[in-house]
Formats: sequence, structure tokens, C-alpha cells
Amino acid sequence: MTVTDDRPATGAPLTAADYIALDEQWSTHNYHPLPIVIADAEGAWVTDVAGRRYLDFLSGYSALNFGHRHPALVAAATEQLGRVTLTSRAFHHDQLGLFCRELAELTGTEMVLPMNSGAEAVESAIKVARKWAYRIKGVPEDTAEIVVAGSNFHGRTTTIVSFSTDDTARADFGPFTPGFRVVRYGDAQALAAAITERTATVLIEPIQGESGVVVPPLGYLRTVRRICDENNVLMIADEIQSGLARTGDLLALDHEGVRADLYTLGKALGGGIMPVSAVVGRADVLGVLRPGEHGSTFGGNPLACAVGRAVVRLLATGEFQERSRELGAHLHTRLRDLVGQGVAEVRGRGLWAGVEIAAGGPTGRQASEALAERGVLCKETHDTTLRVAPPLVISREELDAGIDAIAGVLAR
Ligand SMILES: *Cc1c(COP(=O)(O)O)cnc(C)c1O
Repeated sequence: MTVTDDRPATGAPLTAADYIALDEQWSTHNYHPLPIVIADAEGAWVTDVAGRRYLDFLSGYSALNFGHRHPALVAAATEQLGRVTLTSRAFHHDQLGLFCRELAELTGTEMVLPMNSGAEAVESAIKVARKWAYRIKGVPEDTAEIVVAGSNFHGRTTTIVSFSTDDTARADFGPFTPGFRVVRYGDAQALAAAITERTATVLIEPIQGESGVVVPPLGYLRTVRRICDENNVLMIADEIQSGLARTGDLLALDHEGVRADLYTLGKALGGGIMPVSAVVGRADVLGVLRPGEHGSTFGGNPLACAVGRAVVRLLATGEFQERSRELGAHLHTRLRDLVGQGVAEVRGRGLWAGVEIAAGGPTGRQASEALAERGVLCKETHDTTLRVAPPLVISREELDAGIDAIAGVLAR
């Protein structure tokens, strides 16, 4: 047996090209990352293996709302690492109940189902909604339907890609899970028309992140709520990316004063430290689950709960919501000024924007690469949209520097 050193024969340290070659050879090619190799990070900044610093304008798709290694989050994780990290749910531990109570109180909900990844939270919400339909609503067994929106993104599991409208996400992964009806996002009439007496729930993103930070028409979400109420149908809001202060409120639905029956949360709930997700909502709905019907070895583990509790404490101050509101207003004012100068359209809310690149400009990929050369990390979604989502700890000066770089890259 040979043991491979992680350095080339010269003894020189690995370069960015070496690390990228390792990824290329040994990790599956299900991503197409920018050629940046990050070695450490703090706040709104990351540093690559050659020591070059970049402003993070992506925030791990909102998993890093509080920036990299927020001191309060690192302290909570470190403290918990010194006590107990995993028990399995075969036993109680002293973090679970407190985490669930604190998260429920923060979100104005009654019960919490802790999981790990976002996709798991969505899968869990689907199972809960189906069981609610059979046991409470009285839908005949195995006939429940779930209404979803076109251009959705809810994760990558087999069931979730079953109702994706993105060919790349679906092709070659069938056969698919039945029981989903897809209607056009933002079209309340189409949604109403898709509801039958077998409908268990509507599952919807209040703002579609992966689709390009698409904000539905004003009043749409309130109408969805009314349609659900009139038809005894649950409303599940997938706030995995839009929630937890990203849009300037705790939840994106708060902007329309709408309450969902269930919310899926993830990404920022783990504080950028580890995967933590949850379904939160009505006790009479989540209460349909009995022992043995659903679970996860890691869901609700002590370390996850300790980190989640620290995230809840940060959000309870309202500071991050306010930063997102104020800096977001500035971001959108400045980005809108670029319309006609290489930008076709700007969408979004709070410190979250989809920048539609004007025809004749660079592709989203080219723009992301050019931004990286200027020291700003951002990522395209689809061919022509730049997604801008800086950490909520970013300063106004840093934000302006990043926007200047975008203006420079897109200017025509
Ligand atoms: C990221 C995301 C998910 C999936 O989360 P994972 O942790 O990647 O499984 C689900 N829904 C929305 C809206 C998301 O943005």
C-alpha cells in the first residue's frame, strides 16, 4: 500500500491549479465552480490559497446570512463541541426542546420538526401534508395532490425533481413520484383552477431564488392563502432561501402579512457552520406524525440545536432584518441606476437581487468570472442572471465596492 503525500514531489505547497485538478479527478462533476480555491474566510470576505481576498456576494446561497464564522455562532458551536454533539433521537438531550421552543416563538409557530438539509425539510413537509390530507381532510388513500409552481426550486431528491420544470434537474432521473400539479408562478387563477377535493397542499416559494430572484405580483401570496382557506388546503411556504432576514423581514411572507400553515427553513438556520433545517408550523398539522413514521439520525442533534439556538438569538434582535432592509434599499437603488447600462432588469427584495444582463452583454458565467477577477464572488443563475446576495453583515462601503465592480463588468 502506498501513502500519498498531499504535496507534489518538489515539496512545494499545492497551488490553486493543483486543488482544482484534485476536484476534477476525484469529485463528481455535478457542479461547475468558478476557479477560486478558498482557504479561509471571515465576515463578508474569503481568502484563496494564494492569499488573495474576495468580497463574498453570494453567501452560500443565503446559508451565510450572518457572514463567515460569526463570533456568536462559532462560540455556541465551540461550547457545544465541548459537551455533547450527537445522541440520536433514541434519547432526549438538553438542546432539542429549547431549540424548538425558541424557533417556534421566533417564527410565531407552534411546533418544529428538525431535519438537516433543505431538501429533507421539503420532503418532510410533503409527507406531513399527505398524511394530514388522508387522516384529517379525508382524502382517499394514495390520491392526494400537491400544487406547485413552475420554475420552482425545492431541492434535488427524486421526489422533489419529480415536480421540477428544469430539464437539466430531471433528465434521466425518472421514473418520477406522482401526485404533483404544476401551475405558472404568479398566476393565482391557474392555481385556483388546479385545486380539487384531493388537494392536500400548495407548496410555494414566496420569492423564487434559483429561478432568478423572481418576486411574484403584489397580492399573489395573499390570494394563494385565500384560495387555500376556501378549499381546506394547506399552504407550505418554502423559505429555505428567502427566510431568516434575507429579504428584510424574518420571513418573506411577512411582507404581505401572510401566514403559512407550514414553513420549510434551512440554509441560514445552520449559521454557515453545518446543515440545519426544519419544518415549522401548526401543531395540529405536524402533530399527525407518530413515532416511527419519520425521522433522521442527525436531525435535531445537540450541535445543530446549539447552533440553531444561536441563530435564533441573532435573529431575535431584529438587527439583521434591519440591515437587510436598509442596505437592500441602497443596493436596489444603485442596481436600478444600471438599467440601460448593461442591465436589463433588477428584481428582488432586501439584500437579495437578480440582475438581468442586457442582450449583447457577457453571459452570467462570463460576468461572474470577470467579477472574480475584480475580487467579488457572485454566481449566475441561468445564462443571463447574476444573483447578488451578500452576507447581511456587509458594510455599506463593502457593498458599494461590490456594486462598483458589477457596474464595471456589465457597463456597455
Ligand atoms: C436551497 C434550497 C432548497 C434545498 O436545500 P438543500 O439544503 O440544498 O437541500 C430547497 N428550497 C429552496 C427554496 C432552496 O433555495
